[in-house]
Amino acid sequence: MQRLVIVGGGVSGLSAAWAARKALDGAGEVLVLERAAQPGGRSARSAATGFVVEAGPTSYLDDSLPLDRLIRDIGLEPGMLPASRASARRFLVLDGKLRELGPTPGKFFSSGILSAGGILRLFAEPFVPRGGTSARRCGSSARDASGRRRRIA
Ligand SMILES: Cc1cc2nc3c(=O)[nH]c(=O)nc-3n(C[C@H](O)[C@H](O)[C@H](O)COP(=O)(O)OP(=O)(O)OC[C@H]3O[C@@H](n4cnc5c(N)ncnc54)[C@H](O)[C@@H]3O)c2cc1C
Repeated sequence: MQRLVIVGGGVSGLSAAWAARKALDGAGEVLVLERAAQPGGRSARSAATGFVVEAGPTSYLDDSLPLDRLIRDIGLEPGMLPASRASARRFLVLDGKLRELGPTPGKFFSSGILSAGGILRLFAEPFVPRGGTSARRCGSSARDASGRRRRIA
């Protein structure tokens, strides 16, 4: 019997496990190894304070057919809500201050969320090379992630 081991039980690992189980159709076993006490990775929710606090993703752009299909297949569709109009106003707590993420580019750039250097680097984004093959990109994801942070900070 085939045995597939997936390291990491975040959205990626769990989706991969779901797809693999479907593909194997009972002909193999899928094992997800997760080092945290519970699966989900960055998709974490807490209700400890009496409020539901989402620590990670809450939304996605509904232009992805594979994601739509996955959500339907795993039975999450009934729990989905269209984005509320109120969510058009977004805020970020930065240095202890609440800052509004302006809905227009002008308001966003004048919000003080990005430094002048950060704004310049943002405009340089289209000219930053994408990297190599997808396999190489996966292998260097940590470096890519820190590089991206550096460009936006
Ligand atoms: C605050 C916040 C808000 C976000 N909002 C959105 C949003 O609205 N929409 C959206 O699309 N995306 C959003 N994202 C991004 C989204 O959360 C991530 O892209 C997605 O969760 C990444 O999933 P992942 O499975 O790849 O990684 P992770 O969620 O990081 O999962 C990786 C898992 O692997 C485990 N792991 C790592 N190494 C090992 C090991 N050696 N052994 C065992 N287990 C291991 C970790 O413990 C973790 O559980 C948000 C992210 C954050 C932080």
